Amino acid sequence: MTETLLTNGTVVTQNEDRDVLSDGAVLVRDDTIAAVGREVEADPDHVIDAEGGMIIPGLIDAHVHVSDILLRGAFDPDRDLYDWLYNIKRPSSIAMTPEEHAVAARLYCTEAIRAGVTTFVEADTEVLWEDWSAIEAKLDVYDEAGVRNVYGAGFADVSPDDAFAKLLGDIQARDPSVDHAHVDRLTIDTETALSETERLIEARHGSADGRQSIWPSPIVLETTSAEGFRGASRLAEEYDVMTTAHMSEAEAQEQEVSLSSIEYLRNVGYLGERTLLGHCVQIDAGDVRRLAATDTKVAHNFFANMRLATGFAPVVRMLENGVTVGLGTDNANLNDTVNPLGDVRAASAAHKGFHRDPGVLDTQTALDMLTIDGARAIGRADDLGSLEVGKQADIAVLDTNKPHLTPAPDPVHALVTGVQGTEIETVLCAGEILMDDRSVQTLGDTSELLTESEETAADLVERVGIPKEN
Ligand SMILES: [Zn+2]
Repeated sequence: MTETLLTNGTVVTQNEDRDVLSDGAVLVRDDTIAAVGREVEADPDHVIDAEGGMIIPGLIDAHVHVSDILLRGAFDPDRDLYDWLYNIKRPSSIAMTPEEHAVAARLYCTEAIRAGVTTFVEADTEVLWEDWSAIEAKLDVYDEAGVRNVYGAGFADVSPDDAFAKLLGDIQARDPSVDHAHVDRLTIDTETALSETERLIEARHGSADGRQSIWPSPIVLETTSAEGFRGASRLAEEYDVMTTAHMSEAEAQEQEVSLSSIEYLRNVGYLGERTLLGHCVQIDAGDVRRLAATDTKVAHNFFANMRLATGFAPVVRMLENGVTVGLGTDNANLNDTVNPLGDVRAASAAHKGFHRDPGVLDTQTALDMLTIDGARAIGRADDLGSLEVGKQADIAVLDTNKPHLTPAPDPVHALVTGVQGTEIETVLCAGEILMDDRSVQTLGDTSELLTESEETAADLVERVGIPKEN
């Protein structure tokens, strides 16, 4: 048994009463929180002195993409969703070797840990199911990093129809230098999609001392059959996991059908408490009610939605209707960072401006999205998302002795409106110290990793033929 005491900090518990304890402490026993309070009796093996800073739950990032972090800054940003997806992201992700995926995963995890993330949901949209080596290369890195990850094992079981294939052809014609994959490159039949997903769950779910999870993940509505959606829900139920999909991100996705994407998902039985939908930008009031009625969860990918100009997800309406909303940093080449506290600061201000109402998305609700509501959004509120006895010891410590955080009479306000994300000093996941004094402990030398990432990215961009300018 090992005991670690985090002490001398303001503990933002995110418990049911949202207690904030000045000069508090958290006792960790092995991988679990053993005590939280102002007076904690302990004879610990290690002491982490927060030096008057904040002790908060490790952050939960509800929707991310890992591999394409290497494309950061590599393309002209004046591209809309499909232009970016089919000319930049997809060809590059498909071209990556397992070793390149591993480099991307190391860079991603290093940045995420430094931003206080202890759990992330990867909604992988470029899975080559005939060979798991890229998947395994990434999962091995996550294991080594010590973070908690959900791998959304993306599948497509419907080929693009003629109209969509023509649209893709028209979009891809813009960039003849790019080594485009065939439009069907990712498509597999429904039975294979579900059986491979099941095999991956059997092989890896619960590994890394329970830190790794695998979810079935139909990628998008356009490339998933009704049977694919039903199968994903069935697997989620059977293995007591969740399922995630991208939904209603761009206007074009909603135009050609007579019923909304959300209505369609309800009709095929995909909505429900085990479902986390990324985006939900182009949805109406009725769709929001349908999400609430079915307890379907949403990942709000604020920054990527702004960067791709897909619009404001009706998050305020969702919250008013009782929908559980987590926050996702989405693609690191669209955001362009992995920094939930930075994103939530922008999101909470932007929704106020959009609604012309400073009362919407208040600071407590905004912080909840990264912690306890993030945990709810991934079906893990029983063991993650707050600092409470019996929960997993996923914890971040911030140095708040900074001019921009002074004065800070309300720690929650400071966390959402002032913190930039770079104040995180120490991170624990399942009681293990992943970062100490801002140095990531589990992934080797960071400066060497940065050099390797630069070189790998440059080689990839060159090989795929991504144009430097429009
Ligand atoms: Zn996504």
